[in-house]
Amino acid sequence: MINYKDLGLVNTREMFARAIDGGHAIPAFNSNNMEQLQAIVKAAVEQKSPVILQVSKGARNYANQTLLRYMAEGAVEYAKELGCAHPEIVLHLDHGDSFETCKSCIDMGFSSVMIDGSALPYEENVALTKKVVDYAHQYDVTVEGELGVLAGVEDEVSHAESHYTKPEEVVDFATRTGCDSLAISIGTSHGAYKFTPEQCTRDPQTGRLVPPPLAFHVLDAVMTELPGFPIVLHGSSSVPQEDVDIINHYGGQLPNAVGIPEEQLRKAAKGAVCKVNIDSDSRLAMTAAVRQVLAEKPGEFDPRKYLGPARERAQKLYEHKIVNVLGSNGKLAQ
Ligand SMILES: [Zn+2]
Repeated sequence: MINYKDLGLVNTREMFARAIDGGHAIPAFNSNNMEQLQAIVKAAVEQKSPVILQVSKGARNYANQTLLRYMAEGAVEYAKELGCAHPEIVLHLDHGDSFETCKSCIDMGFSSVMIDGSALPYEENVALTKKVVDYAHQYDVTVEGELGVLAGVEDEVSHAESHYTKPEEVVDFATRTGCDSLAISIGTSHGAYKFTPEQCTRDPQTGRLVPPPLAFHVLDAVMTELPGFPIVLHGSSSVPQEDVDIINHYGGQLPNAVGIPEEQLRKAAKGAVCKVNIDSDSRLAMTAAVRQVLAEKPGEFDPRKYLGPARERAQKLYEHKIVNVLGSNGKLAQ
């Protein structure tokens, strides 16, 4: 049993409480490799932001769970070396699919876990989430539950259709499970293809796809039912068209990739939304940089020469999200 506190990590409780009071949200960036991790830590230190390092099942398969845990421990030390005396870094399991997966992460030093029972019948979701909470809280690990179903594809999580969260269920769910935060479905979606062209309209000026707006009436109703309770948005990449254009220009094929407009996320972050998950945007930023380098310098074969620029582009993206979308810059406790 490794306690996350011994690794210098923190859980989400205090940073979420401050996010509610301060009208900002904490970035949850998915991390799969060293370059992403370096970029996330540098961005968080540079902007004095708390940050959630998010690890999915796919990341654990790709990078190895043990290695990821040591990397998170390394991230804390790296942040200190970069000049941040008291970094607030959470190591969070994204989309835990069973009690056993959550337990295994808690036992090896994760400070926060998500148990995703959203595809289960309601009572089974309650029972599973409560079981994880009862275990996690013994070690002061925070737990994110989920109500409602997001569409889209994210690693091994995939649903064809979304179902908005039912606001009338949230009080019962939060009370009976004891979860610390709740992921809800208000129209965000996993991946870089969040909406089909048929679901969108077209901007007559640019010809770009404009996605349907988020269901703020659902978020407002949830906030009324559970005032002050931390709400989480998954699938909240914005799919910057600049990156998509670079990728397509240098031989990629991402037709009609579309995400959530940043002004909608900004609005959500000012309210009850305390955690915003961003994964696809960093994938796009890194791919754009790699494609550009390899296209412009066909003789290049040193991975540092294309992963370095990928890391820089990812860091810029992370800082942009922190400062211009979530407002978590300068929000460390000390
Ligand atoms: Zn998700």
